[in-house]
Amino acid sequence: MDIQTIGIVGAGQMGNGIAHVMALAGYDVLLTDVSAEALQKAVDTITGNLDRQVGRGKVSEADRDATLKRIVTTQALADLGQSDLVIEAATERETVKQAIFEDLIPHLKPTTILTSNTSSISITRLASRTDRPEKFMGFHFMNPVPVMQLVELIRGIATDKETFAACRAVVEKLGKTAASAEDFPAFIVNRILMPMINEAVYTLYEGVGSVESIDSSLKLGANHPMGPLELADFIGLDTCLAIMNVLHDGLADTKYRPCPLLTKYVEAGWLGRKSQRGFYDYRGDVPVPTR
Ligand code: NAD
Repeated sequence: MDIQTIGIVGAGQMGNGIAHVMALAGYDVLLTDVSAEALQKAVDTITGNLDRQVGRGKVSEADRDATLKRIVTTQALADLGQSDLVIEAATERETVKQAIFEDLIPHLKPTTILTSNTSSISITRLASRTDRPEKFMGFHFMNPVPVMQLVELIRGIATDKETFAACRAVVEKLGKTAASAEDFPAFIVNRILMPMINEAVYTLYEGVGSVESIDSSLKLGANHPMGPLELADFIGLDTCLAIMNVLHDGLADTKYRPCPLLTKYVEAGWLGRKSQRGFYDYRGDVPVPTR
């Protein structure tokens, strides 16, 4: 399968990173979002991140300019019709993703591979509601996309070998490493990572430690580069809660019960870095713990 044009749905933290690495690797990128503001912010972020890579001597000025030229933004989902591969990276809500695929499919070529960057939602279930379950799979990048080496590739029950091989070839062209995961709730990385983050929120909720002591403990005591609450803010607390709900519903085990404090932060709109407030307040010069 010859993949040259990649459509990306959702231009948030993940979508802009995916657009960045795809265009830098030489793919033509069509990036869409319902929000014009998100598209503009994505282009500004990609430009800033490429400038930083130029500053560090990792990317030439000519490659930066060519990369930016390969990214076309649009608010019309139908403009992604010519994509050879689509990566859906919109909000982590099944109804949102399902509606995107329904609206997009009539515009696609029959050969287009459809993928989702979902952190947790069933690939098999998303695939079953499309016209091409054999050409559907999970393409799960890590955050921040330009920095993180891993891409989880998730096979749905119907995904065919050609589709998997084509996606693995894209990961190789990006210079990243693929890990293959079967389609069970939250796959590999988040099946292990999210319960740890949720447990850190319980530790805070029960008063065992403060935000600072919990994060310091895991950084200095377990050699983690970021504390779990800092990491939760980085991922987005809405995304963390959505993943815990998928684990809880999908595996029907109370050990995945989302911490009520995590729910409270999300209900307050304190979603972490992206909304300037979460377990830390980012509105000043240095992050300040909110508890
Ligand atoms: P985000 O909130 O930063 O961005 C989501 C974007 O989707 C927003 O710009 C929103 O306007 C857009 N959107 C919503 N509905 C849409 C629609 N119908 N059509 C087009 N665009 C739409 O979220 P994010 O962190 O970028 O997460 C996106 C996806 O990536 C989720 O499925 C999430 O689980 C997954 N993911 C997130 C992380 C992470 O660390 N944040 C890591 C890996 C995967």
